[in-house]
Amino acid sequence: MDALERIRARRFPIPMENSMNTHADQFRIGEKAASFLRQEKKLLIDGKWVPAQSGKIFDTYDPGTGRIIAQVPEGDAADIDDAVKAARRAFEEGPWSRITPSERGRLIWKLADLLEQNADELAELEVLNNGKPLANARNSDVALSVDMFRYMAGWATKITGETISISAPDKYHAFTVREPVGVVGQIIPWNAPLLMLAWKVAPALATGCTIVLKPAEQTPLTALRFGELVQEAGIPAGVINIVTGFGPTAGAAIASHPQIDKVAFTGSSEVGRIIVKAAAGNLKKVSLELGGKSPVIVFPDADMSVAIPGVTQGIFANSGQVCTAGSRLFAHKKVFDQIVDGIGQRAGNIRVGHGLSEGVQMGPVISPVQCDRVMGYIEQGRSAGATVAFGGTRIGNEGNFIAPTVLTDTRPDMAVVQEEIFGPVLCAMSFDDDDLEQIARQANDSIFGLAGSVWTRDLSVAHKMVRRIRAGRIGVNVHGSVDAAIPTGGFKQSGWGRERGQEGLNLYTETKSVIMSL
Ligand code: NDP
Repeated sequence: MDALERIRARRFPIPMENSMNTHADQFRIGEKAASFLRQEKKLLIDGKWVPAQSGKIFDTYDPGTGRIIAQVPEGDAADIDDAVKAARRAFEEGPWSRITPSERGRLIWKLADLLEQNADELAELEVLNNGKPLANARNSDVALSVDMFRYMAGWATKITGETISISAPDKYHAFTVREPVGVVGQIIPWNAPLLMLAWKVAPALATGCTIVLKPAEQTPLTALRFGELVQEAGIPAGVINIVTGFGPTAGAAIASHPQIDKVAFTGSSEVGRIIVKAAAGNLKKVSLELGGKSPVIVFPDADMSVAIPGVTQGIFANSGQVCTAGSRLFAHKKVFDQIVDGIGQRAGNIRVGHGLSEGVQMGPVISPVQCDRVMGYIEQGRSAGATVAFGGTRIGNEGNFIAPTVLTDTRPDMAVVQEEIFGPVLCAMSFDDDDLEQIARQANDSIFGLAGSVWTRDLSVAHKMVRRIRAGRIGVNVHGSVDAAIPTGGFKQSGWGRERGQEGLNLYTETKSVIMSL
């Protein structure tokens, strides 16, 4: 029995906070996930589970049914302050700053093992809270999170400086060491809650930092379950603190806190700007993974049997709620109709539904607000002259489901082409010349520069286009491929810094130069 069959073989109803929704009763989850949902949720501060100081809680929803599935504490500035004090103590006085890199690596590896052992439960919680299909949550989000912790566990013992050859070798010896940046605040979004957590927490742990983490208000559950695994792994108190709450209160308190040395953020460019301003108070280091509007360029010689499914996957995976989603298609006139029809056909066959339903390939968008936002963009595109070639409608009247949508007759000046929609909407455009500079100009006509892809069998065209596209990650005959070892981040307004890979460690270390007189 494989993992998915094992998960589905179980028969436990989802505990209900609100039993108005009868459609939801058909979904079943494992006993461990059900029991986690039932238990009272608290904040993890200094190794203890505590309620928010205000005593406030807020609801969290299943986006596939709109039903409340749990309530979590509404942490705010006072709780963040406690968490920062705990993280500071653990960094300056606590065992974390004194344990060996090898012990740090062992603990991170143990955390990976625990994530793996609890993968079914984590996947179910992720599906319930975020909406994505179970197969994706289990085989992608959770599996990649485990990989990320293992990858970074290995780096814990390999963070080194350099010996520097200076111009007076007989007089001086010089070298660098890399030290942890200190207490880091991490603010993450809802589109891949556990994976976003792993991408931020793992490198911070590997480098010896301590952490105050705020998950998105829509998706706090896997972060809280992760907190339990942190304790089970034996990671000392105060090293990882988890505060659920809202951006303008808890998130803003992280960004402006004078005792936080660095803030790492993934989310909208709008909030990225707010964070930069708030961080100016103590000039904390800032890394940002922001929005994207990634170009997908299909040349006439592309292998359509690869390009059509690849481009379809590149936009509709995770219901289009991916910062690197390939949302602007530029296809050569000779193949434009073929690729748009091919994508439309595949899109029409995508099984949209609740993430726990068998065979579902695309779930809902995260919230009614996001659903309205995406539908608003589709309407805006239509009234600006775009044609809704496929999709364009909501599906069902329960949950936040939107049909995979392809817009044609789009122009570069339209909001749907320039702004990040963060939903299952592809804007398709054509080009009819072979001037690579001109094609690249169209692709680069965006404030963003996060990712892109080029589809061709011509190696020379592929290399030339890779150099011309201004973005942090380019695929050739593939769009979205994620690995713990590949650094990712944005050019232009898509962000500052690179997460993952060896380069990702730089976000969490300071370089110290040492000069010794001989
Ligand atoms: P946000 O940028 O608002 O949310 C991301 C994180 O930032 C959340 O944890 C949020 O908290 C927090 N946050 C919000 N306001 C502040 C603040 N003033 N100070 C500190 N932290 C804050 O994204 P949304 O959820 O509003 O989504 C809106 C759009 O953003 C999407 O449609 C998409 O275009 C883009 N986006 C991009 C993502 C990416 O991966 N690049 C991911 C998510 C969204 P909370 O949610 O708890 O209030």
